[in-house]
Amino acid sequence: MVIQIKTLEQLQLMRKAGLIVAEALNLMKAAIAPGITPLELDAIAADYLKEHNATPSFLNYHGFPNVICASVNQEVVHGIPNERPLVSGDIISVDFGAVVDGWHGDSAFSVGIGVVDPADQKLMDTCEESMWRGIAAAKVGGHLTDISHAIESYIQSQGKYGILREYGGHGIGTEMHQDPHILNYGPPGLGLELKAGLALAIEPMITRGTEKMKTLSDDWTVVTSDKSNGAHFEHSFALMPDGKPFVMTALDGGAANLARLGVAISPLLA
Ligand code: MG
Ligand code: MG
Repeated sequence: MVIQIKTLEQLQLMRKAGLIVAEALNLMKAAIAPGITPLELDAIAADYLKEHNATPSFLNYHGFPNVICASVNQEVVHGIPNERPLVSGDIISVDFGAVVDGWHGDSAFSVGIGVVDPADQKLMDTCEESMWRGIAAAKVGGHLTDISHAIESYIQSQGKYGILREYGGHGIGTEMHQDPHILNYGPPGLGLELKAGLALAIEPMITRGTEKMKTLSDDWTVVTSDKSNGAHFEHSFALMPDGKPFVMTALDGGAANLARLGVAISPLLA
């Protein structure tokens, strides 16, 4: 296992990629409404990258055909954008990555279209908050599974949800996917000791039912085996040289959400 420890200069480059990802995801989020298609969201992301001289992380990754992953309802992750217009009551997860000067950013959100089932809204809210709890649990001198445990504990405190087993977070830097792999469940205190200069993508994936998934015949789209709806949130963050976290793919560096959880972000990228 090779762990890439980043310098401040490298983290400054990662922030550029993170901001591109954050701004493009915000554009997509603003465009999401009944009638829009996932392929139209993909075009928004592709256009934004072109305008900003950035490269998509996902396009051609192991043959993936698009710039974003768009996963609707029972699709949880890795959905291929299609031409089916979104309708009120759908929920969609959009996952997107970009490369700037050789450094990656990777982030995802889920959102409802029009009027959604309150249980789907709670699914999404639980998934998002578990991501923030995971990031807040990452401390220099702590261990990797402190993050895993914080994610799982929060999800379990909110009700019965399936937590995907085969997928998790990952290191990120000069490749989109680096060591270590980060489980979204398990006991704390295990695995890699967390160090300044580590950059990690934290991405809980949960469902209203089972944790068991199937992959569709397109070889990408991961759906729940019981047809329950799923949600996915992701941010890329770093433990900065001062030991404090900074969320590369959040416009505010994660300041607001981490402050709520009693964690101050690093001022080094301000
Ligand atoms: Mg992602
Ligand atoms: Mg990722």
